[in-house]
Amino acid sequence: MSGGRNRIVNGDGPVNAALMLVGEAPGAQEDESGKPFVGRAGKFLESVLEDNGVNRESVFITNVVRCRPPSNRRPDDGEIKSCMPYLSGELKRIRPKVVVALGFVAIKALTGSSEKLGEIIGREIDVDFNDMKLRVVPCYHPSAAMRNRKMRRKFEDAVRKAISLSRA
Ligand code: URA
Repeated sequence: MSGGRNRIVNGDGPVNAALMLVGEAPGAQEDESGKPFVGRAGKFLESVLEDNGVNRESVFITNVVRCRPPSNRRPDDGEIKSCMPYLSGELKRIRPKVVVALGFVAIKALTGSSEKLGEIIGREIDVDFNDMKLRVVPCYHPSAAMRNRKMRRKFEDAVRKAISLSRA
């Protein structure tokens, strides 16, 4: 469903990034700017990275889906499937050491798991993904984590863990 979008939002960041963060789909501000995570959730994500000594410009940030779903609804299976080659292409190009999956859609797309988020957040999962070996750290979506203190703490712990794995 690309009809309602203004812009395609591809990933952003250096090709030598050790850490890749994958969200769900662009929102209104991303659709306007053509850049992922530039709205409130993005600012929150950036501040957590910075609190841990990581500059946004040093990581690769992207989404499972490239076009903003109408009214910010969750992308459907068809949209996710048709966008997978883009994510896969970015993973092949960047070859990150660690991938942070932000929220249910990214976790499912990257690991195949539909486990309850509370069970897998912050775990380190090694997966085979389109002939690539990926190390995935599932994480809450920043827009959920920034609204809930408990989730925020787990979110910060998971990001911290992913950063330290990416430096190991
Ligand atoms: N939420 C996402 O999942 N991705 C963005 O780029 C912005 C908000």
